Amino acid sequence: MSSSPSEAALLRGSCLCGGVRYHAALPANHASHCYCTMCQKHHGAAAGSYVNVASDGFVIDAGLDLITEFASSPPARRGFCSVCGSSLYWRSSESAESIAVTIGTLDEAWQGPIEKEWFVEQKPDWLPRNTG
Ligand SMILES: [Zn+2]
Ligand SMILES: [Zn+2]
Repeated sequence: MSSSPSEAALLRGSCLCGGVRYHAALPANHASHCYCTMCQKHHGAAAGSYVNVASDGFVIDAGLDLITEFASSPPARRGFCSVCGSSLYWRSSESAESIAVTIGTLDEAWQGPIEKEWFVEQKPDWLPRNTG
């Protein structure tokens, strides 16, 4: 069965403990993996994976008080759940109109393409290179 247009109009996501739930209005654009060392640290993984949505359409439905933001660089804030540690989003005052939500916290698997890989020169050597 395919989703109806109304169901497809939103992305929904949540953190590992379920305390934080959010939704974001589509469209969602510029899905990416970022291999910068800050994303590696923040996600505890080879990359941070994001998709951009409009800030106006991004709504925290539950757990706003659980979200802590870390300023990883002067304009950028990384939001995470202070209970379970899930990385939720990246936002920057230099691009305030959009917010990068973490693909891994989406409740339904991302169906779109990954359009960009950032900081590939920092991609860890232990990551398999079988994308080509
Ligand atoms: Zn949580
Ligand atoms: Zn990064």
